Amino acid sequence: MSVMECNRKGCMHIMCRRYSTEFGYICSDCYGELERLLERAGSRSNYHLLTRQFMNTEKQEAAETVQEYLEEEFDIGDDDEGVF
Ligand SMILES: [Zn+2]
Repeated sequence: MSVMECNRKGCMHIMCRRYSTEFGYICSDCYGELERLLERAGSRSNYHLLTRQFMNTEKQEAAETVQEYLEEEFDIGDDDEGVF
């Protein structure tokens, strides 16, 4: 049985549930990213070409979340100093 690996170039996500006969599996991350891309594209006639390009575009490192940023910026110090 397949691991249902995301078919987007450079994406290592597996167990994807969305599947296209042409493009293969896509994970929810890439799906969301593609959705935002197509929303900006405007014309419906571009969707298919943009989708093909998208699947061949290397996935970028996901932008850090607010939570990740804050946790890194405001490090929790030494536990035994009784900080607040
Ligand atoms: Zn993916």
